[in-house]
Amino acid sequence: MQGPDSAELRAAREQLVSYSARLIGDGLAVGSAGNISVRIGNVVAITPSGIGYHEMRSADICVIALDGTELDVTEEPSSETPMHLAIYAATAAMAIVHTHSPEVVALSSARRELPGIHYAITGLGGPVRVAAYVRFGSAGLAEAAVAALADRRAAILRNHGAITYGSSIAEAYDRALLLEWLARTYRLALCYGDPRLLSAAELAEVAAEMRRRGYGVRRGHES
Ligand SMILES: [Zn+2]
Repeated sequence: MQGPDSAELRAAREQLVSYSARLIGDGLAVGSAGNISVRIGNVVAITPSGIGYHEMRSADICVIALDGTELDVTEEPSSETPMHLAIYAATAAMAIVHTHSPEVVALSSARRELPGIHYAITGLGGPVRVAAYVRFGSAGLAEAAVAALADRRAAILRNHGAITYGSSIAEAYDRALLLEWLARTYRLALCYGDPRLLSAAELAEVAAEMRRRGYGVRRGHES
């Protein structure tokens, strides 16, 4: 297990502070809403609850074991810590971003899923499900999020927000931006009437072509 003072954990604390500030600048959250975590081995570093992102310091980041044991905690951990831990237990996630981004929240109140409005949705695993409404911070919300994430890297929480994960905080964060962009694009398309959506076969074709081209894999890093 990583010690709370390892170099990796120190780097994770810094990353969490800088990405938290980006949440506000990119319009994905306001105040202290939303939360971000990173997994290092059996340890999770997560943003604290109720601290404005502009005031947050790396020492405020909470370090918790995957089983929920508090290892290095000076502030109250995020109220959605149970949801983050449940997602780490159920998926290959190494970082999770939870936002209250407005396009996603608006869509969540009116739709059961974000459909294939653009082929970039294959980066999230396909059309994004909207999980049933459950109160914030509850075990039920953690369960609903995990169920909605099956075969996906993103899920929408009804009347609440978005969840994305990735193999790094950069990837999870880019997916949060992509999800918000797709929700906005879908809303704009609805202004024209009844938008054409990509079929499951068309999305499968895109996913196959992306794999063939090795998208997301840098040259020289194929192995
Ligand atoms: Zn939330």
